[in-house]
This record gives sequence, C-alpha cells and structure tokens, in this order.
Amino acid sequence: MDHFNYRGGSLHAEDVPLTEIVRAVGTPVYVYSTATLERHYRVFEAALDGMPHLICYAMKANSNLAVLKVMARLGAGMDVVSGGEYRRAKAAGVPGGKIVFSGVGKTREEMQLALQGGIRQFNVESLPELEALSAVANSMSMVAPVTIRVNPDVDAKTHAKISTGKSENKFGIPIAQARSAYAAAAALPGLEVVGIDVHIGSQLTDLAPYESAFFKVADLTGVLRADGHDIRRLDLGGGLGIPYRRANDVPPLPFDYGEVVQRTVGHLGCEIEIEPGRLIAGNAGILVARVIYVKEGAGRRFVILDAAMNDLVRPAMYDAWHDIVPLTEPAPGIEMADVDIVGPVCETGDTFARGRAMPPLAADDLVAFRSAGAYGAVMASEYNSRPLIPEVLVSGDQFAVVRARPDYDEMLNRDTIPAWLE
Ligand SMILES: *Cc1c(COP(=O)(O)O)cnc(C)c1O
Repeated sequence: MDHFNYRGGSLHAEDVPLTEIVRAVGTPVYVYSTATLERHYRVFEAALDGMPHLICYAMKANSNLAVLKVMARLGAGMDVVSGGEYRRAKAAGVPGGKIVFSGVGKTREEMQLALQGGIRQFNVESLPELEALSAVANSMSMVAPVTIRVNPDVDAKTHAKISTGKSENKFGIPIAQARSAYAAAAALPGLEVVGIDVHIGSQLTDLAPYESAFFKVADLTGVLRADGHDIRRLDLGGGLGIPYRRANDVPPLPFDYGEVVQRTVGHLGCEIEIEPGRLIAGNAGILVARVIYVKEGAGRRFVILDAAMNDLVRPAMYDAWHDIVPLTEPAPGIEMADVDIVGPVCETGDTFARGRAMPPLAADDLVAFRSAGAYGAVMASEYNSRPLIPEVLVSGDQFAVVRARPDYDEMLNRDTIPAWLE
C-alpha cells in the first residue's frame, strides 16, 4: 500500500498534487512519501511484535538523509555497507549502537571509522576479514562485536543479480564451515562473537527460501552454543519483495514473514535483527518524467521521456518492471495502445518498457514510474552528462526538495584540465 493516488483525476503524493511539485522542481524528479515510509516500518514492527527485535533499515535502497531521518525518528537502526553510508547514518542521528555494518569488502579505514563512532556489530563475511577486524580493533584497544554471515546454500528464486544465498555467490561463509570460522573468531583477541547473520537475496516473492534458511540458522545456533559461543542475536537480513506489477504480483506479507521468523527461530531467546530496504522504500517513491516526443517507428510507437537509464537503471540492469501511469487519470474505458517507453540515452538498453499497453500519450504529458523509491536515485549516474535528478519528500500537504538538482557548472567543475593541456 502506498500514498500515491488519483484525486479529482490527478495523481497525488499524499495531499500534494504531483503537478504542483513538477511546477516547482521540474522533471525528471523523484518524489517520496513520508506516510508510506512510516507505514512500512510499522508493518515490520507489528510483524515482529512479541520478539525482542531491531529493524535495521538497509539504507543502500534509498539513503537520502531526509529518508533516513524519517526512519531514525521511528527508532530504526541502520544496515550500512560502506563508510559513506555509515557517515549518512550518523548524520541522520542514528546512534552507533543501532548501526550494523554489512558488506563483503570492508576496508580497514571503514572498520576504524565504525569502531571510533560506535557500532552495534560487524557482519563479517570471510576469515581474512575476521583477522583484519581483530587487528584494527586491537590497535585501537577495542573489541569489535561480530556476527559471521553464513551462506546457507538456499535458492532464493529471485533475479540472478540479486540472489546471494547460494554457495556459488560471493557472500558469506559456507554454513558447513561456520563452526571453524566461529572458533577462529573466538580465538582472535579483538573480536567478540554476538550472533549469526544471514541474507539470502532481494525481491523474494516466496517465503519458503526464508524458512529453510532460518531453520538452518536455528540448527547452527544450537551447534555454536554447544561449542561455547554466546549467540544472542540473529540478523536475518532483508530481501522481502514488493509488488512491482500491481496487476500480477502478490508477494508475501510482512506479517507472514514474521510468522516464519517466530516459528523457525522465535524459541531461541535471541534478539532478532532484520534489514529490510526495498520493502520500506520501494513503494514509498515514484519517478515523475515528461514525454519529449512520441515517435512512430516501423510498426512500433516510441514514447521518449526526459528520464533515462542513468536516472532509473533497474529496467536496464535487472529487466525490471515498473508500472508507468499518467499523472492525469485516464478516462474509464479509454482505448489502450502498446508502446515502447524509452529514454534519450544512446543505448538500446535505455528502454523502460516494451509493448506496454498505455493510454494515449502526447509530447509534454507527465507520467510516473511507480515503486521507484528503492534502488532508484541511489543507483543513478551522470551517464551522457545528465546531471543527477532532484529528490522531493512529501509529508501530508507539505513538500520539500531534499536533494536539489545540480546545475551544469557543478557537474563541469568537478573535472580539471591538467596544466600541460592548458
Ligand atoms: C541489500 C541488502 C539488504 C536489503 O535488501 P532488500 O531487498 O532491499 O530488503 C539487507 N541486507 C544486506 C546484507 C544487503 O546486502
């Protein structure tokens, strides 16, 4: 559920007509809904009710400081995967004790930064990382709290580029080697084992892979406790899918996910951590674009937008579907026609939709990509020297630009010409 609905024939974000935002900010523009962000967080809170837990928002989905502030004010922790994200979490006011540090390639500088600023735990992904972290902590006369990310070898049945829990993926330590990895961690002076971590992939549309992964984590908890490790936290990762295609998709509900958590690991007396990203932010954002031209090709009609793959890369990168709707509500029963919806970038991959049934569109019309709040703005680039596009946060009848559209000088001034070319 989200808060982008037609009212009086015009698409609104909460109580704000999107045309008003377009008038003020131009296109393309990302627009986020505070009420939707809050709603999704609370749905997870309710789903884990009765178990001690912390929801660590996976900010790589959308790390705009204003979005983080919305989450921080609700009491959310954060899952960070870089020193930059760690700095964003702190800038949004999240205490170090609520920040977990994930990622397969943490550098010594990032470890030092997090130890200095405070950290709930490092989710460690390899033996060399355990050794590096211990050495860094030791050199600071500190002890780093760690979980080890285990790879449970389950098939998340999601897109290959976002599946992470199979043995052939680069993530985690094979669960069969977990005992020796935990023994190694316990023997290192700079580390304190606090729990187990698992994250099997993203955009999961089935709970069964979670269930088998969490059962494996429950078994491992018993084994590791018998080995003398104080397993008191279970970080179960993120990955719950969202309905990108409203007419077809029926992903599992957070409530049912919570039931799986309860049934598989609820009896272990551990604090549960989860790291949802997409489900918090995905349907809390849209991308608004303007039609530049409608071009009649050989047997195809192309709708060319002012947004492109550099602004929203998911269709090009993951063959992802986004529902695309006009800002002006189509009249009931209006005739639809199949069109290709594309951007202006010089790549055939710059195609948002092929043969998509759409109501009539003409130059200057405005459209919205739904479900663009996660892995949208954060994955944007300036490819084709297109400046990053602005982000706007709505709350009720208010809106604010939370990232301004850079001007062209800002973009050009980042480059410098060496003296010998002057
Ligand atoms: C990407 C990621 C998440 C969030 O995944 P979503 O599909 O956005 O919920 C959580 N944890 C880790 C370790 C990740 O890499």
